[in-house]
Amino acid sequence: MKAEIISVGTELLLGHTIDTDAAYLSQELAVIGFDVLHRCTVGDNRGRLAESLRQALGRSDLVVLIGGLGPTGDDLTKETAAEVCGKHLVMDEESRSRIESYFRGRECGESQWKQAMLPEGCHVLRNDFGTAPGCLFRSGGGCLVALLPGPPSECEPMVRHMLIPALRRYSDSVIASLMIRTFGIGEGAAAERTADLMQSENPTVAPYAKESEMFLRVTAKAANLQAAESMCRAMAEQVAARLGHCVYDVNTDGSSQSCLEQTVVRLLTERGLTVSFAESCTGGLLAKRLTDVPGASSVLHMSFVTYANEAKHQLLGVPWELLEQYGAVSEPVARAMAEGVRRVSGSSIGVGVTGIAGPDGGTPEKPVGLVYLAVCDGTHTWVRRMNAPARFKSRASIRFRAASTALDLVRRCVCGLPMEEEPV
Ligand code: AMP
Ligand code: MG
Repeated sequence: MKAEIISVGTELLLGHTIDTDAAYLSQELAVIGFDVLHRCTVGDNRGRLAESLRQALGRSDLVVLIGGLGPTGDDLTKETAAEVCGKHLVMDEESRSRIESYFRGRECGESQWKQAMLPEGCHVLRNDFGTAPGCLFRSGGGCLVALLPGPPSECEPMVRHMLIPALRRYSDSVIASLMIRTFGIGEGAAAERTADLMQSENPTVAPYAKESEMFLRVTAKAANLQAAESMCRAMAEQVAARLGHCVYDVNTDGSSQSCLEQTVVRLLTERGLTVSFAESCTGGLLAKRLTDVPGASSVLHMSFVTYANEAKHQLLGVPWELLEQYGAVSEPVARAMAEGVRRVSGSSIGVGVTGIAGPDGGTPEKPVGLVYLAVCDGTHTWVRRMNAPARFKSRASIRFRAASTALDLVRRCVCGLPMEEEPV
């Protein structure tokens, strides 16, 4: 089923209002198997709206118009749509009495009743959060047409509770999707390893680069949800096998349980392990990100922000000789920080992070972006040297990337995976 969205409102064209309604609607329509192939925006102008609508009716199975259903003079979507689709507007008594009770005891102008005038024979989409109802009907030419109010607080619930349920019966398919989350592999390398899978048309595999991470979304279309989900799972397994240890989570798209820190909290909790941090260049970001996750209290013992050499020595027992001989940003100091914090805290795992976040302080031997990360589990201590690529050289991204790398090292340590950097 081919769908098209027309957003109506001069404020959208001027850029004063961002068209969040259409973005939301696109996502919801995709889930029930409607392919949104066109989206356009027109101002509050009868002629241009009619022109856009005629064009849409000629090429789509469903046209959704958003906005312009209100009581004011510039709200002309319904009148225009009725005219173009060859429909009369008639008073819908139920909508009229809903508007009446909405205004009970308050002044209500004549213009309010115009909102209850709907195309004859339409399916009314009740508005539980405002006065203007939406509607769904067939144009003279047989195309499905839906009208929705503009305010997102009214539009979104109407889409979710009224429009989508009403449209389901017209669709012959549904989609399901899975998100494969990776850390430590670049978009190029991931694309190379999955090139043949990315050619697939159903399910589709699409990469999304995120700050220091890479996601791949697998989307399948099928006659029912069960079939779509099983197609998704089969493809996600193939993709994940190609990406190996870089995959830290495969979950339904939009799941709120899926970022790196959530994965780490889950893994530590499942194994009854605890962790403590000794942070220098991340300045507490590592602890912040871990404690953003509900349930972090059962896995995080303590975190030290040991910025000065004195702090590294006094609180973690990093020997002065190491600090003097190798400098604070060095493999031996990172190692001593991780081992020190593990000893002081009594945690299962100790983590040390020391680096140069910039913009100053870099030297040819130790450039900005150089970070040493160490993880100690009491038997082994692993140290990773991270050198942020040029495009990640801002202070914020170096710190974020360092925290992500530390989290990933904890994940690898806990799961017994290789601790070396993956070939990119
Ligand atoms: P309307 O339904 O055209 O009277 O719009 C009422 C209000 O809803 C506008 O002032 C905008 O702030 C908002 N609005 C209209 N269309 C959209 C849209 N497509 N996305 C987000 N907000 C919108
Ligand atoms: Mg408007």
